[in-house]
Amino acid sequence: MTNTQTAAAPAETPDEIRDAISRRRTFAIISHPDAGKTTLTERILRAGGAIQLAGNVRAKGERRRTRSDWMGIERDRGISVVTSVMTFEYGGCVFNLLDTPGHEDFSEDTYRTLTAVDSAVMVIDAAKGIEDRTRKLFEICRMRDIPIVTFINKMDREAQDPFALLDEISSSLALDTTPATWPVGRAATFVGTYDLRTREVHTTTPLDQADPRMIQLGEDLELIDAALPEFDRESFDAGHLTPVFFGSAMKEIGVTDLLDALVAFGPSPRDQATETRTVHADEPGMTALVFKIQANMDPNHRDRIAFARVCSGRLSRGMRLHHTRTGKGFALHTPQFFFARDRQIAEEAFAGDVVGIPNHGTLRIGDTLTEGENIRFTGVPHFAPEILRRVRLEDAMKAKKLRQALTELAEEGVVQLFRPQDGAQPIVGVVGTLQLDVLQARLKGEYGVAIGFDSTPFSLARWVTGDRTKLDLFAQANRSSMADDLDGDPVFLASSAFMMRRTEEMNPDLKFHDIKQIG
Ligand code: GDP
Repeated sequence: MTNTQTAAAPAETPDEIRDAISRRRTFAIISHPDAGKTTLTERILRAGGAIQLAGNVRAKGERRRTRSDWMGIERDRGISVVTSVMTFEYGGCVFNLLDTPGHEDFSEDTYRTLTAVDSAVMVIDAAKGIEDRTRKLFEICRMRDIPIVTFINKMDREAQDPFALLDEISSSLALDTTPATWPVGRAATFVGTYDLRTREVHTTTPLDQADPRMIQLGEDLELIDAALPEFDRESFDAGHLTPVFFGSAMKEIGVTDLLDALVAFGPSPRDQATETRTVHADEPGMTALVFKIQANMDPNHRDRIAFARVCSGRLSRGMRLHHTRTGKGFALHTPQFFFARDRQIAEEAFAGDVVGIPNHGTLRIGDTLTEGENIRFTGVPHFAPEILRRVRLEDAMKAKKLRQALTELAEEGVVQLFRPQDGAQPIVGVVGTLQLDVLQARLKGEYGVAIGFDSTPFSLARWVTGDRTKLDLFAQANRSSMADDLDGDPVFLASSAFMMRRTEEMNPDLKFHDIKQIG
């Protein structure tokens, strides 16, 4: 396994830091289940030399267990609930591939992961085109103007016409497209790609000019030249235009086209907004943002890892950091890099890299770490949950344990926790029902607490802000519908969208939010 981050001589000057940062490519793959994300991930990691054998990363069935057997629910359902990061090198760049959960339920984890990337590869099934989840994830990327590279997969099977696919992406996502490569052959006769930039053909078998596939390519190219826009770097960087690659992850066609493009024009670490100023990735001072907490990754050690994205400068092991939420110092003893299922101590990391920081609850999602400056990154949100349930404890003796466990799991972002102001049992809120199953399984497995869920009269939660006095009056008048979230911020719970609208109309001085910015 290669890892120059630990092997390279420490960068001394800002120029070297700048160079290291410009070679970072931090991205995620977004797709609908079954489009081929896992297969493509394996091929990409193999191209980068990060794994010797395709299948090591996250194979279905038996082999999949190697990576994630710490969590029964994943094993049982054959899904990946956990977001992790895979680092590899390719073409002189250090790639950080952030894995997003593959199940159909939307979870906040996915969203937060997308706040930590600089670009996304959108994988589309060539027969099915744009599907629900692709669209949803794309919309999240659009909110942050994340540049998107499109990979149309499964070209080795019956597929839609490439022009039709480009049209579909443009019209259904309102996203300009430009082909970066073009398929040579179709379905069973698909043998490679034509690179529209270098004008080179890459095929698995040599074809002469009289081959029907080459003739078709020639005809297609005339149409492309006449009708389709050229790649425009600025529109790509702004997230308005996507270069489109065709390929087959399974047959390993088009995978290096994609990686070469990410090397050539994949964005290096982007600027990040804080409450007070913009942090540029190549600033010398180290800053980092915690975007994910994962507890109990190793059930034998009850560890708790905060995943932090380095946003600027260079992080090195042993550094003394400033934790801006608490104002306290934080000694960075054992930052870790993750390679699929392995981890190792990180001696240093640069903007764009993701490190795991073991801690005992000090670090929370949205926290900022710096070398002393008092800034706080914005942009890591909580979404208003779409499902609210009251937790029913099976064994009343375990009330205290449950309280602690719920707090820890809510800090990790597994669920949101609302404590009713009238003292009733806590309510948990989730965006997708799978999160409830995860909560139940983890409470049982990791804390030995059995719970069930009861329905609540509420279907909506909104964070309330406004003038302190008005807010207090509102809370008094609506006591049975008010709760505090994990941070003690007030939340109004409504029984229906209609009630919510009425409440908003009757309280024009207050603001009701369905997204809360944390950090
Ligand atoms: P994920 O759910 O998006 O991670 O998709 P997988 O990578 O698990 O792939 C779903 C199915 O499609 C599997 O049976 C793969 O073998 C198959 N598959 C993935 N890529 C290709 C491809 O390029 N061509 C063909 N024919 N099948 C593929």
